[in-house]
Amino acid sequence: MTVPKTMGQQFGRRSWAEPWKIKMVEPIRVLTREQRETALVEAGYNTFLLRSEDVHIDLLTDSGTNALSDRQWAGIMIGDEAYAGSKNFYHLEAVIREVYGYKHIVPTHQGRGAEHLACKILIQPGQYVPGNMYFTTTRLHQELAGGIFHDVIIDEAHDPQSLDPFKGNMDLGKLNALIQRVGAENIAFVSLAGTVNMAGGQPVSMDNVKAVRALCNQHRIRLFLDATRMVENAFFIQEREPGYQETPIARILQEFCSYTDGAWMSGKKDHLVNIGGWFALNDEALYHEARNLVVIYEGLHTYGGMAGRDMEAMAIGIRESIEDDYIHARIGQVRYLGDLLDSWQIPIVKPIGGHAVFLDARRIYPQLPQEHFPAQMLAAELYLDSGVRAMERGIVSAGRDPASGENRHPELELVRLTLPRRVYTQAHMDMTAEAVKAAFDNREKARGLRMVYEPKYLRFFQARFEPIF
Ligand SMILES: *Cc1c(COP(=O)(O)O)cnc(C)c1O
Repeated sequence: MTVPKTMGQQFGRRSWAEPWKIKMVEPIRVLTREQRETALVEAGYNTFLLRSEDVHIDLLTDSGTNALSDRQWAGIMIGDEAYAGSKNFYHLEAVIREVYGYKHIVPTHQGRGAEHLACKILIQPGQYVPGNMYFTTTRLHQELAGGIFHDVIIDEAHDPQSLDPFKGNMDLGKLNALIQRVGAENIAFVSLAGTVNMAGGQPVSMDNVKAVRALCNQHRIRLFLDATRMVENAFFIQEREPGYQETPIARILQEFCSYTDGAWMSGKKDHLVNIGGWFALNDEALYHEARNLVVIYEGLHTYGGMAGRDMEAMAIGIRESIEDDYIHARIGQVRYLGDLLDSWQIPIVKPIGGHAVFLDARRIYPQLPQEHFPAQMLAAELYLDSGVRAMERGIVSAGRDPASGENRHPELELVRLTLPRRVYTQAHMDMTAEAVKAAFDNREKARGLRMVYEPKYLRFFQARFEPIF
């Protein structure tokens, strides 16, 4: 057994700690195993359907689960709840312009609201949308707008054991082949995501975005960024890409965004808030369309579904998120958990990503065919054992092909342990690792699940299962 390196050793200091201290606490309760069994049956073996009160350590998602700083809470007190022209909107707009570098900002209630606007404006029915692996809501909005998603991520991304440092990169050959096959006019835009969620939180390199930009310029295709976890992506560039070790996170972020025509954002992730999002773009005409559409679906263009106080908390959170010591601690915690599991030889996706540790359910349950939902099973087992809530990222999340109606069979069959930002301590990480170890030690007993209810859209949120005996 190798002892994982401490963060101090990794970053060349003696040790490290979070650059904040705790001022307010939220008590959590722990159920008995019998109570958890009942809760799991009631939830149809779907961790999305559990009540939060029944969860001990909640690693379902890093979305909207962030802890605010005292500065952000103070900002909430100066919310300007005017229907039109809230001062908090102008503050937010100025911060996004400065930090991300885009000209025009349209606020939305969360990321998918921005995806909806982007897809409505940018996609003509029948056009292709190449992307570096899919994200659930992103692809669905692309498809609902009549687009055809086409995966152009590098092959290494589909291999949980590949140690490629930038597994989120686009494969220029695949992208070029699509352009040659369907013609540039049939490509709505190129959809690039920072730290690819479904691949295990894997980053995109600066070199890659530059190359994609050059190819897009050659064919006059627009390049849009899913900026949801782009700050975390900037950390990996600083750590791994030659020439960026001394560059501050804020500068890396700005440079990366400068190669794109616009971005959509789920503020619930990187921005250290609980709700909110935005769509940003440089093109004047497209901006006017987006600003007009937002009124129909989200709200007036100076709030877009957010309260004034939410916009203020977001403006402050954006600035906190690009502090180097914050992001080092954030990713350091993810790595601490991942290194611990790795040192116990529990199969995880490597390299360890930015927001989560992904357990490789295929390798943990080799006895289960994908139709018996190994990742869903593992998430259920984890909860049962110790009240840790994780999320399936495998065949259930991948859904069905809209044309054939068949199940998609993703190569990755994963369980995501997602870390909320600034919420849990190292002791929580130790408990989580021990819970995973317990489920892992019991792996031979797992029989799998059958789906007994399947919703039409984004089925992973609401599907129900029963155990196979
Ligand atoms: C969460 C997420 C979204 C959607 O954002 P919401 O705020 O949940 O609507 C889009 N893209 C990625 C990569 C995400 O992780």
